[in-house]
Amino acid sequence: MTRKGLFIDRDGTLIVDKVYLADPAGVELIPGAAAGVARALSLGYQLFLFTNQSGIGRGLHTLAAAHAVNARMVEMLGLNPSSFTDICIAPEGPNDPRVYRKPSPRFILESIDRHGLDPQQCWMVGDSAADIGAAVAAKIRAAAVRTGKIDPATLPEVAAQTVPVYADFGAFAATLA
Ligand SMILES: [Mg+2]
Repeated sequence: MTRKGLFIDRDGTLIVDKVYLADPAGVELIPGAAAGVARALSLGYQLFLFTNQSGIGRGLHTLAAAHAVNARMVEMLGLNPSSFTDICIAPEGPNDPRVYRKPSPRFILESIDRHGLDPQQCWMVGDSAADIGAAVAAKIRAAAVRTGKIDPATLPEVAAQTVPVYADFGAFAATLA
């Protein structure tokens, strides 16, 4: 089994961030996402979906709704359900103790251990400071994309040029070896 891992944020990275999306009919792929994911798989990366969904902790929607949105996304990406080695939906609301919610690195660290990944061959890709923070805390590589709510130029790690920024996930994936 490959030791390369790719941890991917969902909203603003693979699909358009519609904020507390709970309806699978609302899933809209970001252009290039499907090709990017296919490329990563063809290069032998194990894929991990890592998404903060505070709408669950806030009582706005259920965990089942988040699973349904994920399933629709996987289908639209042209993948089968087992294409992602694992999926972490962090349900904590803003006032809950933080367990898996990014920037917690817990899911990344547990996945590295559980699946025998090489941290030096792992990436976390996302559109927010929380994504970058999780990568930094887990000591894996980070990349930012410009398809979310946040201008990555505002992130300190980007300003310090320790984190590269790509137009979108597809552009990032095109750089993978
Ligand atoms: Mg995001």
